[in-house]
Amino acid sequence: MADKKAPQGSNTLAGRLARLGLKRDADFALHLPLRYEDETRITPLADARPGVAAQFEVEVVDSEIAYRPRRQLIARVRDAGGTLSLRFLNFYPSQQKVLQPGVRLRVFGEVHEGYLGAEIIHPRFHVVAAGESLPEGLTPVYPTTAGLGQGTLRRLIEKALARIDLGETLPPELVQRLGLPGIAEAIRFLHNPPPEISQAALEARDFPAWRRVQFDELLAQQLSLRRAYLARRARGAPQLLPTAKLTNALLQSLPFRLTGAQDRAWREIATDLGQPHPMQRLLQGDVGSGKTVVAALAMLHAVEAGHQAALMAPTEILAEQHYRKLAAWLAPLGIEVAWLTGSLKKRDKDAAIARVGAGETPIAIGTHALIEDKVEFARLGLAIVDEQHRFGVRQRLALKDKGAFAHQLAMSATPIPRTLAMSYYADLDVSVLDEMPPGRTPVTTKLVAEARRDEVLKRVHDACRAGRQAYWVCPLIEESEALQLKTAEETYARLVADLSDLKVGLVHGRLKAAEKAEVMAAFVRNEIQVLVATTVIEVGVDVPNASLMVIEHAERFGLAQLHQLRGRVGRGAEASACILIYAQPLGETARGRLKVIFETSDGFAIAREDLRLRGPGEFIGARQSGMPLLRYADLDDTVLVEKARAIAEDMLRASPARAEAHLQRWLGGREELLKA
Ligand code: ADP
Ligand code: MG
Repeated sequence: MADKKAPQGSNTLAGRLARLGLKRDADFALHLPLRYEDETRITPLADARPGVAAQFEVEVVDSEIAYRPRRQLIARVRDAGGTLSLRFLNFYPSQQKVLQPGVRLRVFGEVHEGYLGAEIIHPRFHVVAAGESLPEGLTPVYPTTAGLGQGTLRRLIEKALARIDLGETLPPELVQRLGLPGIAEAIRFLHNPPPEISQAALEARDFPAWRRVQFDELLAQQLSLRRAYLARRARGAPQLLPTAKLTNALLQSLPFRLTGAQDRAWREIATDLGQPHPMQRLLQGDVGSGKTVVAALAMLHAVEAGHQAALMAPTEILAEQHYRKLAAWLAPLGIEVAWLTGSLKKRDKDAAIARVGAGETPIAIGTHALIEDKVEFARLGLAIVDEQHRFGVRQRLALKDKGAFAHQLAMSATPIPRTLAMSYYADLDVSVLDEMPPGRTPVTTKLVAEARRDEVLKRVHDACRAGRQAYWVCPLIEESEALQLKTAEETYARLVADLSDLKVGLVHGRLKAAEKAEVMAAFVRNEIQVLVATTVIEVGVDVPNASLMVIEHAERFGLAQLHQLRGRVGRGAEASACILIYAQPLGETARGRLKVIFETSDGFAIAREDLRLRGPGEFIGARQSGMPLLRYADLDDTVLVEKARAIAEDMLRASPARAEAHLQRWLGGREELLKA
């Protein structure tokens, strides 16, 4: 079945090619082999060795569709010295038609001893043309998609290579200095390796032709980020000059003093806001490091300067919490805060929108509702996005665009390892909160097998009887929302029974916003002692009296998720604990994750491990970063990334035409997303 969201005609050849990003000749030229196969020789069937890929030339004896144990196409073939079965579990009618008795084939694959004797499952094959010679060099194998065969792809690439002028985009002296081959030479070489080159040499990452391609890819990435950065610097933004009246009043009314890190970040932000071009800054600080108050100061700075500020959060629970906290801080200063979420009554929502639009409310806090079309600000000067990794690029852009030239602050607890920050976020300035507010006691992490759930219950019971509170996160069921709901309700029912002398509450994603808010408020007031929750409480929630976090089936959660959840406790002076209940047997990755979360509480170290376990693409998410993923280069290749960065700067200054040509070749029309 075709995916509903797939573009029209996705089952046509053009559609399949589009899925691979193949449109222009340059796209085909840069679609490089995944690996190579040696089809320069024919191996007699009698010499086939199990598990070793080889090419055979055979004649079809017969072919049939078998239905047991499942539908499959089986062809029997032979050469002078042996026989072989070819087995296809997925096949096209056209393949079946080709496999007629007497037809000569070249077949490539690994022979296994199967149920029917020697067989190859899903071999690559083609009909041998009269007088067809063997290729002289290795055969490239390209990344492809369902319904698009290697043969077709190879022919299209060959055609594109014949037409295209792969001119050098780098200055010749640079190519020489880098000690790399020319780009045309490198690309043609990788598509059509000459006979004398060995497979091992060609498949090594540091093979010179590959190095050149990797460099060019990184250079395109850096050029594009650098250009977006320069474009932003060139745009105008309102200079928000402080009077320090409101910000000082807030600082004086807070029950705490800013940490050194908060103070530094706040100054950096204030400086940016006073510039005549838009700020684009990431405030990065581990869970609990105190980002909210820095956001509040930034918003007041904008208000002092006569502008409006908006703060968008990814969940209703978090938005509501921000709203309550900020309203409490700002009401004594005479600052009104508007509240905008999807669940407001229409009348209240329209009233809030009207006040924001008329400029009567200087500050607006909310969820995605803030970026609805109807919402217009009279003079938005600062847009803040909390937990920015939870939003897509377009959503982040939409908030900023509510003010023609608004300054932008993103906040995140997800630390970004250095090499990633250097590339994906090269267009951002970054402030880091690397210091926790004082008086925190570190959270103890415990791993407990499911068989010992009773001990955990007793611990929760005792803590709550002593006046503390606990979160109980129920098992994660990602594949089905209905099942997730059922699990949450069952966990709740069970805990109500097991902890009959405590007040137990339940919060999950299916509750109406008002119901969620009610449960959270009761938890904040300590009218609920144990809060059973799904991951709706994962980000941002701040209830300092809660000192226990229990996570059931912890082995199902991701590392970042576990770290965020654990960050919900340890926010008060009381010693806190995070208890991870796991079910056996543990898979290898799950074991690895639990080990990391048990051994470290440092968000940076955890992010680094997360990156190692998952790979950079998934870590950031291509969609989220707006950055086309690197196909050939590796972000961990710090030396090459640094080189590309320095050269990108020079090139934009000294030879903008070359820079443009280079970007066109690599990114074509895909660049606009980068300006997020
Ligand atoms: P996060 O960075 O995870 O968003 P929050 O802004 O929610 O962290 O802050 C966590 C808690 O620390 C809040 O209760 C907040 O009021 C408190 N806090 C923030 N800054 C300080 C400080 N400098 N000293 C003491 N407590 C602070
Ligand atoms: Mg927060």
